[in-house]
Amino acid sequence: HHVPVTLAGHSYEVLIGAGLLAQAGLRIKTHLPNNHAIILTDETVASHHLATLEDSFRKADIRFHTVTVPPGEGSKSLSRFEAVMEDILNRGIERGTTVIALGGGVVGDLAGFVAATALRGIPFIQIPTTLLAQVDSSVGGKTGINARAGKNLIGAFWQPRLVMADTGTLATLPRRQLVAGYAEIVKSGLIADADLFAWCEANGQAVLAGDPATLGEAVRRACAFKAGVVQDDEREQAGSGGRALLNLGHTFAHAFEAEFHYDGRLLHGEAVSIGLHMALALSVKMGLAPREDLERLDAHLHALGMPASAADLPHMLHVETLLAHMGRDKKLRDGKVTFVLLRGIGMAFTCRDVTMDDVRSLLLDEGFTP
Ligand code: NAD
Ligand code: ZN
Repeated sequence: HHVPVTLAGHSYEVLIGAGLLAQAGLRIKTHLPNNHAIILTDETVASHHLATLEDSFRKADIRFHTVTVPPGEGSKSLSRFEAVMEDILNRGIERGTTVIALGGGVVGDLAGFVAATALRGIPFIQIPTTLLAQVDSSVGGKTGINARAGKNLIGAFWQPRLVMADTGTLATLPRRQLVAGYAEIVKSGLIADADLFAWCEANGQAVLAGDPATLGEAVRRACAFKAGVVQDDEREQAGSGGRALLNLGHTFAHAFEAEFHYDGRLLHGEAVSIGLHMALALSVKMGLAPREDLERLDAHLHALGMPASAADLPHMLHVETLLAHMGRDKKLRDGKVTFVLLRGIGMAFTCRDVTMDDVRSLLLDEGFTP
C-alpha cells in the first residue's frame, strides 16, 4: 500500500507493508541527499528491529550512525534533546544528513524535533514501529518534546520526506500497546468515516490478534484518513473542523492521563478509548446524538476488551480534579470548554457551548467520585 500526503511544497508518501524494514536501505537511499543518515531509536525497539535496519543500510552502502535513547515518555525531555543534539553535532552532520526515527511516537516526536532544529532543519524520515505511530503520530508533521509545564509544549511543524510503516514490526508489540493504537483508529472512524467504523466492527478482532493483512488494511485506512485531514489544515489553523477534530475524546483523555503522570499505568490510547465513550455520552446527554450510536460504540469497545468507563481506570478519579485539569486546558473560555462532540458515528464537530456544569453532570452519571 502507499498513501500520498499532498501538502503545499512538500508532499510525501506513506509506505505500508510487512517486511519493508529489510528493504529500507534501497528504498530510502534515493531520498538521502548526501547518503548520510542518523538513526534515532530506543533501547527496546533496538533490541527487536535495529539489526534489520542497519543490515539493509550496509547492503545499500549508506553511511550512518545510530543514537539510542531509553524507552518511554521520559525521553521527550529537554535534557535528552540536548544530549542527542550534542552527540550528533560532535560526530559531524551536514545539511543533507537525514534523521531516521525508528520507534514509536516518543522516538518520532524527539527525532522530528531534532531534525527540525539541527542546522535550522535537516531532512527527516519516519519508520514507525507502534500501531499508534503508524496510524497517527508519524503522519502530520507535529514534532516536539515535553516541558515541566506540560506535554508537547516545545516543538515545531516538520514534515518527513517519507514514512515507512512496516506492519511486520508490530509482531513484537505488547497487546496493550496494540489496543492503545487501535483506539486512535476507532477515533478516526467516529470523527468522519462511518465506513471505517463499520470496518472496525467487522475486523477489530483480527487487528488486535495481529493478523498481518488486516493490520495493513487498518494502517492504510487510518493513514488515508489522517492524511486527508492534515492536507486540508496543515498547521491546525482552521480552529473548528480540520485538525481540531482529531482531538475527539482527548479533552477527557488528557485529564485522565495527567492524573496518572504518564508513568505507564494508563497509556495514551487507553485514555483515548475511555475518552471516546465520554465524548459520545456527553453528546447523547446534550441531545445531540442518538443513544443507539453510543450503544454501538460501547458494544464494540466491550467486544474487544477495550477500556470504556471510569471503572476501567487504574483507580477511581474525582470529578472536581478532572474538571480542574480540563479547565487548565487552553481551550477554556468564560466557563466554557471547547469540545469535539458527535452528531452520531462519523459526524464530529467542535462545540463551544459546553459548560463545566454539563461536564460535571456527565462525570457524576458516569460514576466518577463526587
Ligand atoms: P512509545 O514511543 O513510548 O512506544 C511505546 C512502547 O513500545 C515503548 O516502550 C517502546 O520502546 C515500545 N515499542 C515500540 N515499538 C515496538 C515494537 N515494534 N516492539 C516492541 N516494543 C516496541 O509510545 P507511542 O504510543 O508509540 O507514542 C506515544 C507518543 O506519541 C506520546 O509522546 C505522544 O505525545 C506522541 N504523539 C504524537 C503525535 C504527533 O502528531 N506527533 C500524535 C499522537 C501521539
Ligand atoms: Zn491521541
